Amino acid sequence: MSAPRPSRTAERPTPRADSAGGGQSAGSPLDGNLDPHLDSPLDASLDPALDSSLDADALQAHLTASEELAQLGLWEEAYRRLRGAVELLPAPDRGLQRAELDRLRQEHAMAREQARRDFLTASYNRRYLDDRLSTLLDDPSVTRAGMGLAMVDIDHFKKVNDRYGHPFGDRVLQRVVAELDAALPDGAFCARYGGEEFALVLPGYEPDEAVAVCERARLRIDRHRWLELDPDLRVTVSVGVAHTVAQPPDVEQLLVGADVLLYAAKGAGRNAVAYRKRGGRVALAGPAGGRRDIPQPAAVDC
Ligand code: GH3
Ligand code: MG
Ligand code: MG
Repeated sequence: MSAPRPSRTAERPTPRADSAGGGQSAGSPLDGNLDPHLDSPLDASLDPALDSSLDADALQAHLTASEELAQLGLWEEAYRRLRGAVELLPAPDRGLQRAELDRLRQEHAMAREQARRDFLTASYNRRYLDDRLSTLLDDPSVTRAGMGLAMVDIDHFKKVNDRYGHPFGDRVLQRVVAELDAALPDGAFCARYGGEEFALVLPGYEPDEAVAVCERARLRIDRHRWLELDPDLRVTVSVGVAHTVAQPPDVEQLLVGADVLLYAAKGAGRNAVAYRKRGGRVALAGPAGGRRDIPQPAAVDC
């Protein structure tokens, strides 16, 4: 299983937000940095020679700062600087450019939202998961209480597809995601890891809380009214939930740890949440806790 290599946000270069531009072109910072399909709303109005009253240095400073912010993915700040540039334009142009900039901003926000969602389930996708996991390393809640991470896998899902067909399986996936989302507390999120596997990320949650959330999610899926789709249908999930207090957390190892526990839950009979007790032994949450022969894989250091 591959996982993102964390990159500390502290290592990001500091945007030279107030630089006066240092000889850069007066082209729009939208060019090449935001969506390449979007034309800049400022292109037509940026030649300071067109208007001697235009404060060319201030305009250039906004544009340069905006470009640098966009390169760092700080889109909202980048748009704010572009907005600042628009306010420097001559009055007759300003209203039009403002409206055009707002339209582009909305389009770009929508494109960004689509890029982070899984098409089938509308759950967050793997790209979002990787991005968020790397930014969470500096999150104060994680620094305080650590982080829980669970891997969720639908039990015998191939049989669902084989029996009812792939489109039906897709509807099951959508309902599973709805139940997972409904079980999550503030600050936690669910992302489709791939196929019928999902990651639940619980930043700032203690181990016991993370296990309780996962058990609640498992139970919601077990109790879902699957008979609405078919009277004979039953869908369950197995879950492995790992937790780390390491600073910064090794998210790659955390994912491996959760995966190992997921397979312990499968090996212990499925429809269960596996976690490690304080001493390191693997246990199952809730009523499944009484099962015998729970696999005891070696702990993963995270
Ligand atoms: P286990 O309990 O061991 O996890 O058994 P399983 O059958 O769930 O596991 P397996 O890995 O054999 O099968 C996973 C299935 O998930 C096979 C694949 O066709 C199905 N699947 C993956 N992605 C999708 C999808 O987007 N839609 C549908 N309908 N099925 C999918
Ligand atoms: Mg699977
Ligand atoms: Mg499965």
